[in-house]
Amino acid sequence: MEGFNPKVITEYFAPEGRMAASIPGYRYREEQVNLAESITNAFIDQEFLVSEAGTGVGKTYAYLIPAILWAQEQKEKVVISTRTRALQQQLTEKDIPDMKKVLGTEFVFVEAKGRENFLCWNKYMRIVAGRKRLEPEERRFIEAILRWAEDTKSGDRKELTLDSSLMNKWGIVAADRKSCLRDSCPYSDKCFRLKMLKSLEKADIIVTNHALLLSDMLVENSILPKYSYLIIDEAHTFDREAFDHLSLRFSQSDINETLQLLFTRDKQGEHGYLQYLRKKYPGFSSLFTEIVDLSDSSSKILQNFFNVLKKSLTDKDYSYTRVLQWQDQETKWMLKAMDLYLEWQNSIILLISKLNSLNDEIKETEEGNELENILQSLSEYSYEASVIMEENIDQQDKITWLECERGQVVAVASSELDAGQVLHERLYSKLESLVMVSATLAIEESFDYFLTRSGLNTFKGDDRVNTLLQQSPFNYEQQARMFIINDIPEPGERSFAETVAGVLENLFLIMGGQVLVLFTARSQLKDVAAILRPDCDLNDIRLLVQYEDGEFRHLVDEFIHTPRSVLMGLETFWEGIDLKGEILKCVVIIRLPFRPPTDPYCSAADRYCRLQNKNGFQHFMLPDAAVRFKQGTGRLIRSEEDRGLVVVLDSRLEKKNYGRVFKNSIPIKDVLLLETKQLPEYIKEFLKK
Ligand code: SF4
Repeated sequence: MEGFNPKVITEYFAPEGRMAASIPGYRYREEQVNLAESITNAFIDQEFLVSEAGTGVGKTYAYLIPAILWAQEQKEKVVISTRTRALQQQLTEKDIPDMKKVLGTEFVFVEAKGRENFLCWNKYMRIVAGRKRLEPEERRFIEAILRWAEDTKSGDRKELTLDSSLMNKWGIVAADRKSCLRDSCPYSDKCFRLKMLKSLEKADIIVTNHALLLSDMLVENSILPKYSYLIIDEAHTFDREAFDHLSLRFSQSDINETLQLLFTRDKQGEHGYLQYLRKKYPGFSSLFTEIVDLSDSSSKILQNFFNVLKKSLTDKDYSYTRVLQWQDQETKWMLKAMDLYLEWQNSIILLISKLNSLNDEIKETEEGNELENILQSLSEYSYEASVIMEENIDQQDKITWLECERGQVVAVASSELDAGQVLHERLYSKLESLVMVSATLAIEESFDYFLTRSGLNTFKGDDRVNTLLQQSPFNYEQQARMFIINDIPEPGERSFAETVAGVLENLFLIMGGQVLVLFTARSQLKDVAAILRPDCDLNDIRLLVQYEDGEFRHLVDEFIHTPRSVLMGLETFWEGIDLKGEILKCVVIIRLPFRPPTDPYCSAADRYCRLQNKNGFQHFMLPDAAVRFKQGTGRLIRSEEDRGLVVVLDSRLEKKNYGRVFKNSIPIKDVLLLETKQLPEYIKEFLKK
């Protein structure tokens, strides 16, 4: 390992080193060197490293140099996983190509993406051959991609630059698990997804996202090639993503969609795959009739099942989730729902067996592939439903919930109480080295919360996990100030939305726009936006509101390119926005970002704490909110030149004891408590400096 040691690696980062020579604007940062050195040691000693690297440390370069050199020297693949598409793009389009200049060596990196990103030749050719009826918008979409589809080498949707109204139709040509013909696909030699998977074999560095990494873990590593070295960037959300990925769903619309592929009737008549087969194979007429009857009755029973579950909802659950409690098991509605569920299982099993009989007759024909796919989907739905309804619902280490939309129950889902345990068994235990890094992992300089949630605390005893905290190199004393407003009414009070809107309007005018406002509740966002909009129009302030003025990317682009604009949003806007300089001058936090207890992830964590005799607020709600608060306030200062304000409209930050956990976890130390009426004067004073 002569060529790979901390000294060699850190020399790249020296003030006169190769980074300085090759990367324009490179600045030597001790924090970056420390991180690169620790990652190098983690690879050499086959250890795990958990590191918080504050904004501006330059974490991607700090892990890329050791990762690439290690992959080359050891002939080992290093997998790098990110959460957001933005970071994945930054890595593959900028940071990794930069490394070729810095290292002066050739290496292979490949981006591993989910199959939904790739054009499926089989779907596309069926459409081009006129085998699928298209809506007018779908036809326009196909016309718009015809040329690209013939020329593209990657088949990756990211090459397309169509309007979002057309891109919404991408699904009709996108590869998907249910319709993929696998070995029997006539286009497998041209399949873009298969080509991508093949190219991974030759890669030194694989860049992927958490979703694909977790899917690969769940299917026993059948997507990614074997790897033993893993870097997880944006690691602060990893346990949440694991929770979501480990969840199973029993969904009415998924099942009905598959049944409708088989058979559906409307005013125009009867359609679907069975109708097509009926004409082609008139000899199986009675079997077709049996299948149609079973499909009909299965849909009806399912509808009844979900109708009965609806009885458990209160007004509060109208559009959210309802976590099932132990006491629900004995309720009338649950007992009735269980009866209906069993009836549905019987009907679907019978339907599958009839479809199997049909499949035996036609499997060697061209039509057989489609039936195989339908059969596989129905079998999976039946299996997942049985795990949720017959096993998980009673188990202490699982959580089960109802998903609701507009007052209807649309699915039953369940997941693990402790995703960390599964990660330990199925991911970490197979690795030689693991690096987990993010700008927000530590709470009051401690990693205990992250280690517990991610399941890494189980390695603590064998000294395999090291932690490293590298603070941001920015001068927060000079660059940032926080005002906490102490006289905003509680959200339940009638004057809440009016008061918040009043504070914001003043602030927008004084700042002249370039304000990001972070909300925690959709109803509050909607109410405040409705009050603000007329006045913003009058004052030539461009108000950009999530759910009202466009998608995330569009809103951020508009915010960047429109002077005097303000951006207001919920969860996705608390992270993943990186706006330097004058574009963003102020971040407003309406409420501390505690998750609603109805969120199944939150409920699972709370239940898990109780099983461990721990206080759920102390051990989950509070540190979880503190990490999100850190993310939100972290949007403000993104470079040495930035200067700005954070305004918090939630006085619990000052009045409650737990407020110190939030304040001690962020780098802004210049914090002032103000009344609403004092705010304009203090903002003006800050702007003068
Ligand atoms: S192998 Fe699957 S994804 Fe690829 S072209 Fe064929 S059906 Fe589509």
